[in-house]
Amino acid sequence: MRSSPTILWFRQDLRLDDNAALEAALERGEPIIPVYIWSEKDEGDWPLGAASRWWLHQSLTSLQSELEKRGPSLTIRIGGVAEKLAALAKEVNAGAIYFNSRYEPAAMQQEQELERASFVKDLELKSFNSSLLFDPSQIRNQSGGNFKVFTPYYKACLNHGFPESAFDAPKTLPRFKGSISSHKIEDLKLLPKINWAAGFVESWSPGEKGASKALKAFEKKLGGYLKGRERPDLDGVSRLSPHLHFGEIGPRQIVSQLNSGDIAAEGFLRQLVWREFSYYTLFHNPETPLTPLDKRFQNFPWEKDQALLTSWQKGQTGFPLVDAGMRQLWHTGYMHNRVRMVVASFLVKDLLLPWQEGARWFWDTLVDADLANNTMGWQWTSGCGVDAAPYFRIFNPVKQGEKFDPDGAYVKQWVPELKELDAKWIHHPWNAPSFDLEAAGIRIGETYPERIVDHDFARKRALSALASISK
Ligand code: FAD
Repeated sequence: MRSSPTILWFRQDLRLDDNAALEAALERGEPIIPVYIWSEKDEGDWPLGAASRWWLHQSLTSLQSELEKRGPSLTIRIGGVAEKLAALAKEVNAGAIYFNSRYEPAAMQQEQELERASFVKDLELKSFNSSLLFDPSQIRNQSGGNFKVFTPYYKACLNHGFPESAFDAPKTLPRFKGSISSHKIEDLKLLPKINWAAGFVESWSPGEKGASKALKAFEKKLGGYLKGRERPDLDGVSRLSPHLHFGEIGPRQIVSQLNSGDIAAEGFLRQLVWREFSYYTLFHNPETPLTPLDKRFQNFPWEKDQALLTSWQKGQTGFPLVDAGMRQLWHTGYMHNRVRMVVASFLVKDLLLPWQEGARWFWDTLVDADLANNTMGWQWTSGCGVDAAPYFRIFNPVKQGEKFDPDGAYVKQWVPELKELDAKWIHHPWNAPSFDLEAAGIRIGETYPERIVDHDFARKRALSALASISK
């Protein structure tokens, strides 16, 4: 009898462990054809940024090798999702297409388009959830509506109980016997033409194995998480975000491994629920990557100033903590959460530049660029999102530095021109006596930039801008 293979469509679930679509494909018992489709137009307003493209190249390479060890290789197609799946299904006489859902607006549209396509009437089209603990339509408040505030949402999640991982990567996968044409990963041209990614190579091991190693390494330092989460100078966070974004590890696996009930584990799982809440909020408010949830902010008197934006992007603002964060981002594709909040607040409140500009820059430069988390992070900091920080809470980059990078180690790592300066002045070098500056080889305005804005002035200006939309 002719086989009726299962097409396993990989998306942001680039792993074999805890992969619900793969599990179902195995149960179906037919040959499995794993496929990845590269279609920039199907990502809507948010085609992959440069840092994410670098990561995707590595992650697909790793998935390819894990699949080949077990039998089938990864088929790669370039072009519209529905069109490419239709062609492949016809070519191999597929009986089913299985995939894991994504919850970003453009990705959901891909699924809807697929459901409407005529070729799927002749086969079984099934979606699964492997990227979230809870499907965003699953959690409801008591009146059946959506949560708008994190804490009650979190409690509702706790009441449901966190699901754990129940499926391990299989040792072998049934292969399709015929030949299938495929592009090479190199054909996707994901790597940069100029090699700016050397710092990424030093900082990361993309792929399922790298993700699992990162989780194991983090388990050992979990006890210090609550402190590490606040302190960019310590090695205290998991750095799992890009692995989670690309689905090289899933939240159920993390719950299975870390759900020990101690306070640090609880604190960490709470952050994973923030990730859930970001997806939940985006799912129910698909316009928010570009539009503030709080509609008053549509009339906010934003400034337009390319020179200021460039200084921020390049880490040349004259505020050491901001510059350290922006340079860490450029060099490694990552920034500690505390510093993300500080640099975001600086852009939006000190410079009065639109949060969408910051979100775009992060989108291009973060290896963990994630539409749900990035949107939530920017809207939260700007005061216009769901359960947002009040707008009048304006981070003071000097005080934040003194509190969360007390010895200036983080600044010294990323802003080497300040590394000889006494810790006492490291977060406000403009106040240092000229003797100390000279001894440290610093000339403000020459070796390190002048401040591009006066924080006290900027704070008052931001508050009056807020008052103008609150009336
Ligand atoms: P850990 O502290 O080890 O946390 C573990 C996981 O929990 C993270 O990997 C992440 O998936 C989730 N998590 C942690 N903090 C948050 C949070 N505040 N919101 C939602 N989920 C969270 N995160 C992204 O993954 N992609 C983004 O594009 C992104 N953009 C951001 C933009 C701004 C302006 C801000 C303030 C935050 C943003 N975040 C984003 C959230 C957060 O900064 C990162 O998830 C976190 O720093 C990743 O590092 P980690 O994996 O070591 O985190």
